[in-house]
Amino acid sequence: MIHTRIERVRQRLAAEGVDALLVTQPSNVRYMSGFTAGADASLLISATQTLLATDFRYYEQVARQAPEYRLFQVPKGLAAAFGDLAREAGARRIAFESTHVTYALHQDLAKVEGVELVPEKGWVEELRAIKSAEELSLIRQAVAISDAVIAALPEMLRPGMTEKELAWEVEAFMHAQGADDVAFPIIAAGGPNAAMPHAVPSERRIVPGEPLTLDLGARVHGYCSDLTRTVCIGQPDARFREVYEIVLRAQQAAEAGMKAGMLGKDADALARQVIADAGYGEAFGHGMGHGVGLDVHERPSAGARSEDRLEPGMVVTVEPGIYLPGWGGVRIEDLVVVTESGVEILSRATKDPVVVL
Ligand code: ZN
Ligand code: ZN
Repeated sequence: MIHTRIERVRQRLAAEGVDALLVTQPSNVRYMSGFTAGADASLLISATQTLLATDFRYYEQVARQAPEYRLFQVPKGLAAAFGDLAREAGARRIAFESTHVTYALHQDLAKVEGVELVPEKGWVEELRAIKSAEELSLIRQAVAISDAVIAALPEMLRPGMTEKELAWEVEAFMHAQGADDVAFPIIAAGGPNAAMPHAVPSERRIVPGEPLTLDLGARVHGYCSDLTRTVCIGQPDARFREVYEIVLRAQQAAEAGMKAGMLGKDADALARQVIADAGYGEAFGHGMGHGVGLDVHERPSAGARSEDRLEPGMVVTVEPGIYLPGWGGVRIEDLVVVTESGVEILSRATKDPVVVL
């Protein structure tokens, strides 16, 4: 698996006319090597060499996790050893990840004589966008854990508990279900707070009859899930029912219409059209979906301006929403995998928003 990924990068090196790729983005390091401490390591991949540069803390871990790589010890960090690393690989023209390498690191790397730095964007991210069967299996496990949260919600929710208390219970529950970690900080937003797509859980108490948005994800062996449900304790009012029904129809339209070959912006339009036709176009201000994998936001984008083309094996969210300041909001988010003829919906959590305690 790692071997195939290395071969894909080598094809890219040849096509782009560079000698090697320096990988520094942590999830890219992990994807290309299997080494889990990606933030403390970098890779240099050339036509003949695969070197993993890290410090003393990880020498043992490299041997265990990244057998396709030769350890290159950098006790004083990458910048100090970059010249030696390049010489070891026999590389002169070296591509670097321009969206990740900092200005300061670039300045240090550029001091090395005889090396030409070539900026690249998204080479490894493009490979990561299409999931293997093994990756899909881990994502399915993470999805099952987030689905279980929604199934357990009636036991977890107590009227009067704060958003922060609920977020913590959800986090603890996911760990108990076998998650290695949360995929991102949990969003639990009630009433007017649900009008903010990325609300931070507060001391506000959860009130029956109000919209309550929960956005959560689990991480399993590095791979994320991402799930949102908006619920209401007890009977929702007419406005909740109206808004919920529109968002649900928008999501169903996208899930029914998405397929391989479509551009991200066209997938976005499937949901956006339904919301606009219902008169709430201005209230859906974010992209319809995004790729999920080792990172919770990765390629492809399924937003209103995305030119990314959907391909079989891509895992993306479908998450339309309507946000009304002062009242609240509704977002319904599934994770799907793109197939030749459509999408397979991975999320199984109920979309019945009424929670009876
Ligand atoms: Zn989400
Ligand atoms: Zn999302």
